[in-house]
Amino acid sequence: MIRVAAATIAVAALIGCGAQPDAAWPATPNLVEREAFLMGTRARLAAYDVSRDSGLHALEQALGILERTEAELSTWRDDSVISLLNRQPIGNAFALSDATCRMFRVVYETVRATGGTFDPGLGALTAAWDIHGSGREPDERSLAAARERSGLRLMRFDAARCTVTRDADATIDVGAFGKGEALDRVAASGLRAPWMIDLGGQVSASGGPPGERGWQVSIAHPHNREQRLFDVVLRRGSLSTSGGSERDLVANGRRIAHHIDPRNGRPAPFTGSVVVWHHSGLEADMLSTALYVMGPIIGMRWAAEQELAVCYLIPQPDGVVRVVATPEFEKLRAP
Ligand code: ADP
Ligand code: MG
Repeated sequence: MIRVAAATIAVAALIGCGAQPDAAWPATPNLVEREAFLMGTRARLAAYDVSRDSGLHALEQALGILERTEAELSTWRDDSVISLLNRQPIGNAFALSDATCRMFRVVYETVRATGGTFDPGLGALTAAWDIHGSGREPDERSLAAARERSGLRLMRFDAARCTVTRDADATIDVGAFGKGEALDRVAASGLRAPWMIDLGGQVSASGGPPGERGWQVSIAHPHNREQRLFDVVLRRGSLSTSGGSERDLVANGRRIAHHIDPRNGRPAPFTGSVVVWHHSGLEADMLSTALYVMGPIIGMRWAAEQELAVCYLIPQPDGVVRVVATPEFEKLRAP
């Protein structure tokens, strides 16, 4: 059995999910695993293959894709595409590659669809709250200035020409979509062996351990990753969690969530977590952030309207965690 503690997701493979053994597999299929530190997290990759060599080769390929996506998107690197775009002179059209253009199309559409609760054009706000550092509460003037420089509405995307033009000094924060995009690029590469990649808080998979319905993924307590609440079975697509007070920061004695509500420029007040399944990793990543910002009351209503697979974990004052899920999410629950 493998168990990995991720932000709020842990993966336990090789646990019976009640399907018949697959005749195409040898009696002892080879489980291969790799671990690497990338995208600011400990990544875990696993695959089952007919031979150890081919399995390792598959994981090496997947790792390469993740690393190249990180090099393209990470704002920790000065030479990434996103860093170059963030420094592009105001008014100059910035040309995107086909893959990045495709991604931007989905990103812009999701900002619209989520009513701006997901909006990665908030680099000025995440900097004002020092979300990627040790946390800070900005004064009202700095907050107002950061709000003026935030929002993808300040970065014009021309889908026909595949360009983005900054109309103001707004910058993109990839925190809520980079991992999902990287996982989708692995999924699109056509790996043959059943695989699972856990990027800490987001897990994608294709197929499952031989003879199993899928990979068994544990959903953990929002405040304690070691405490498993229930399991889901993941056979395709991606499961993304937003939440995890473990990552939240404290400034002046106040908790600062690392999710900002772009509509008021302030950290979202929800203290639980939300898990989203989507066939696209990019969409799962963005949607879990949007749903975190919406909070469980509005978020559950919206998720039901969109027929999304969503589950909120809501800590109660007595310490019990209330679990509310859409019917689409319930279908994923392990028996
Ligand atoms: P995690 O980083 O734990 O996977 P998320 O996927 O929800 O959590 O992404 C949170 C990150 O996204 C933040 O650290 C920040 O970089 C960025 N972010 C915060 N709030 C928003 C928002 N409303 N829209 C887009 N990006 C956001
Ligand atoms: Mg995420």
